Amino acid sequence: MNLGVQYYRPPFPEDKYWEKDITQIKQSGLNTVQLWVLWGWVEPKPNQFIFDDYDRLVKLAEKNGLGVILSAIAEIQPHWIHREVPGSEMVDHMGHKVISSNRRECHFGITPGGCTDNPGVWEHMKHFFTEVVSRYCSAPNLRGWDAWNELRWNVQADGFVCYCDYTLQAFRKWLSDKYGGLEGLNKAWKRRYGSFDEVMPGKLPDGPYTEMMTFERFLTWRANQHAKARYGVMKALDKKHPITVHGASPCTLWPGSMHSYDQALNRGNDWFFADDLDGVGCSSFPKWSNMDDADFAMRVEFVKSAGRDKLVWLSEVQGGRASTGFNIFADVDTLSQQRWIWNGIACGADTILFWCWRDEVFGRESSGFGISGYDGLAEERLAYMKVTGKLVEDYGDLIAKYRPTKPEIGVMFSPQSYYLTWAQEGNADRIMNGLLGYCRSLARQSMPYLVVEEEHLNVLSGLKILFLPRMIVTSEAVEEALAAFVKKGGTLVCESECGAFNPEGIYRYPEDRFTTRLSGVSEVGRRHVKSDHVTATIDGQKLSLGVTQWLTPWQKNKGTILAENEDGALISEVPVGKGRMVLCGTYLGDPYLGSWTEDFEKFMKFTVRKAGWKPEAEVASPKPDKDSFVYVKWGESAGKKMVYVFFPPKQDSVHLRFKPGFFTSKRATDIISKRKIQIQTTETGRECMFNAPDWRFSVLVEE
Ligand SMILES: [Zn+2]
Repeated sequence: MNLGVQYYRPPFPEDKYWEKDITQIKQSGLNTVQLWVLWGWVEPKPNQFIFDDYDRLVKLAEKNGLGVILSAIAEIQPHWIHREVPGSEMVDHMGHKVISSNRRECHFGITPGGCTDNPGVWEHMKHFFTEVVSRYCSAPNLRGWDAWNELRWNVQADGFVCYCDYTLQAFRKWLSDKYGGLEGLNKAWKRRYGSFDEVMPGKLPDGPYTEMMTFERFLTWRANQHAKARYGVMKALDKKHPITVHGASPCTLWPGSMHSYDQALNRGNDWFFADDLDGVGCSSFPKWSNMDDADFAMRVEFVKSAGRDKLVWLSEVQGGRASTGFNIFADVDTLSQQRWIWNGIACGADTILFWCWRDEVFGRESSGFGISGYDGLAEERLAYMKVTGKLVEDYGDLIAKYRPTKPEIGVMFSPQSYYLTWAQEGNADRIMNGLLGYCRSLARQSMPYLVVEEEHLNVLSGLKILFLPRMIVTSEAVEEALAAFVKKGGTLVCESECGAFNPEGIYRYPEDRFTTRLSGVSEVGRRHVKSDHVTATIDGQKLSLGVTQWLTPWQKNKGTILAENEDGALISEVPVGKGRMVLCGTYLGDPYLGSWTEDFEKFMKFTVRKAGWKPEAEVASPKPDKDSFVYVKWGESAGKKMVYVFFPPKQDSVHLRFKPGFFTSKRATDIISKRKIQIQTTETGRECMFNAPDWRFSVLVEE
């Protein structure tokens, strides 16, 4: 496992610090350093590459027994790019040529630079990758490559991009392939274009959804293709080392924004990155954005779900206190940081790289982020890191072979629903929040779940239940897969207007939706929300569930009604084939995300159990409440069960229950505290009780 830290973003730190720093990195228990190889920096003049600084750092790391990960930053382009490739500027949505500038997190080199759809720009970029990989692929301490940092391509474009001739040409070619020519496009879009040059991408939100959604989808595909192209060049030269890319967030958390001129998912889709590359990753700054155990775990689960059997890299994890401009943010305390490492391992991360070693010294990030920085906590952080570094070394084999348990609960991620919502609102926040609400309630209750992407549906065969939060857009292919899933015995949980739009953004009347065809029950139409909750009677209990946006009651002609109003059923269960559909006439996930309720967690628990899911492990006590929950993850390594237990503040003991046969032995070792934990056999299975250790989390390995 790579447990490392980002070190060099040229020209900082300056070389006077290198010897001492690299020695100290090794002494603090870390085993890897990451160096940013900036295109703009290493090729200051066309075809003249300067690698002296990297040569020295790679050697210095080797001398100190440290691995190296090279982050090839081609998106920080040389200042000469537009001179060498005239007319290579991106063009924004207003038809303006984009003026590139030094990026705020990079002291030298321009962004966004030339458009990669321009073959001249790509030729130069390819040359950069070729030079870097050729030079370092045989370095004995090379551990791998990050081929694209945070998937940045449009940063500081200061407008929506790209509308240059090359991108328009690529867009039209992609459309023609997708629809089988202009006739097919006209049929699908219900238009009368006479020629492809009349077909323009969407410009801004609140127009017709059709071309905006399609352009967003194209931009996602384009980012995925670009990553694949980078990977192709690098892999041809280095077949030995892993090559990954990582987002600033998992793609599920990239809803787009008018403020930053980002269309939804314009940095690609992690599931497709994982199809093509050796792995996928994300950055995480938990103290900067106030994440708890569930928030952090959800990020890793999103990447892990996308990655499947590929590598999962936590490519930037917060090292020290965040600082931007003249603001400082929450401290990075030692135990929180240790929790992120072990939470990441619990979810299946293969590489963890902290951002960064020293405090930054230029621009808005000055004084921020250094794990060894000046926030007053560095000494303690590094002392604890040494302990974890030793554990990672001692248990390297165990960690390498660990696999989290295979989830049987799925939550759907629907990029098409993001596209449509962005096309209306300029962000897809409400779709993202719906997804997050469901995932968070599962994470807080330690119920293992898989996030299912709408074009990667072969995983459905392993699931008992699939939640479809705010899945307002469905393609025929998705509908067929969902129908097959439910007919074979799966449970499908649909929210209001599930599949109400086709992928071209055209609205379907209730009777024309796949939910109606499948269940024989139709929604009656949109009605006003008169109260912010509905009361559902589930398993003899009355549950109050938060609702939002509108109600779309379902006809009451079939199934069991769990909640209703005067217009119809607000939650009902309808048998379909060997399975069932749960039909909700509103949205339940995002109200829960905004305002915690125990009742929504009960609803989730009831629904998954009714679908035939049984916990392998569960927290018997303490039960989750508004502010705290014991977070448990488990899996197996070389036939041994491993259970990760994270205690919240003020909860000092835990009682865990396991299904019969979960542990084969009567004892487990907490490898963090070195304590032995007794496993009791009971009538219902196995169980154990123990207190929180000093570190406030335990990693149990059965003996
Ligand atoms: Zn372009």
